[in-house]
Amino acid sequence: MAGIETDVLIVGAGTAGTYIAWKLAQRGFSCTVLEKDELANLGASIGPFHMEESAFDRFGIPRPAEPELLHEITDMTTWSPRFTSSLSFSLPTFCMDKPLFHQRLHGYAREAGAELVEDAEVVELLVDGGMLRGVRTKIGGEEAKWRARLVIDTSGINGVVRTRMPRSVWFENYAVSARDTIFVYMETWRDLQGELPGGVNSFPYYIGWSAPGPGDTTSSESGRAARPKPRGERTARCSRTFPSKARLSAALAAASLTVAHPGRSLTTASWWQGTRRA
Ligand SMILES: Cc1cc2nc3c(=O)[nH]c(=O)nc-3n(C[C@H](O)[C@H](O)[C@H](O)COP(=O)(O)OP(=O)(O)OC[C@H]3O[C@@H](n4cnc5c(N)ncnc54)[C@H](O)[C@@H]3O)c2cc1C
Repeated sequence: MAGIETDVLIVGAGTAGTYIAWKLAQRGFSCTVLEKDELANLGASIGPFHMEESAFDRFGIPRPAEPELLHEITDMTTWSPRFTSSLSFSLPTFCMDKPLFHQRLHGYAREAGAELVEDAEVVELLVDGGMLRGVRTKIGGEEAKWRARLVIDTSGINGVVRTRMPRSVWFENYAVSARDTIFVYMETWRDLQGELPGGVNSFPYYIGWSAPGPGDTTSSESGRAARPKPRGERTARCSRTFPSKARLSAALAAASLTVAHPGRSLTTASWWQGTRRA
């Protein structure tokens, strides 16, 4: 079992972990990022994603260019539950390819001197005298110990470091419960008919939204609460949740568009097939 020492260990090479590694490495700290998946695949399950333009300047990230930049959106409308009122505003936003965005951030982190290790799953913490000293990983069949002055948990919703920390008044180590989790489902349509309002339309009450996608496509996304009494682990729950629950949510989003524009009748079934009811 190898032992590796570094200033900062960062668990998870998503947006948060890679960004913080980049910025700390720029300031001269030795940083190692441990990622359980392949770096090239990160973000692939999401594909296109949106981030407002101003965030790039705020966080000091160069703006995206093609092919990472898919297109730009400006107009947004948020609808009330009954669609009787709406709020429109302008929020210049980039729609980007998430894997390429991740890879760009990985490049910045590496250029600044951070080390990114893929296929390295954190499986245990190294705790000494109640203090977190490092982590143990599995890389393929090999185990490794990593020690650091500081360990940062950027492993996303599972919080693999935080939830393994010893119980103390200083630390919130509870797992995010299923009740606080939503699963998000997204589809992109090329042949969706009916008059959709331009730009992004969000339906917060229905946890759904639609947006122009690349080219002549429209993306629709919706979230559903996880089951209140989960059985099995998170991925199993997710596969049980979809597609039936996703269809329900998408149907709600479609219904909301119909209500918002009564003259245009998009039924649930026809929406799924991308055709308009006569
Ligand atoms: C369908 C969908 C669409 C979305 N669209 C948008 C959008 O348009 N705009 C937007 O701003 N946000 C969007 N989000 C939310 C956004 O994806 C998250 O807020 C963001 O990814 C969180 O980044 P993160 O770095 O905190 O966590 P994550 O991206 O979850 O990264 C955590 C990383 O930790 C790794 N990891 C986990 N466990 C371990 C372990 N034991 N050992 C080592 N590594 C581990 C994971 O593999 C992962 O790479 C969307 C989310 C979904 C699901």
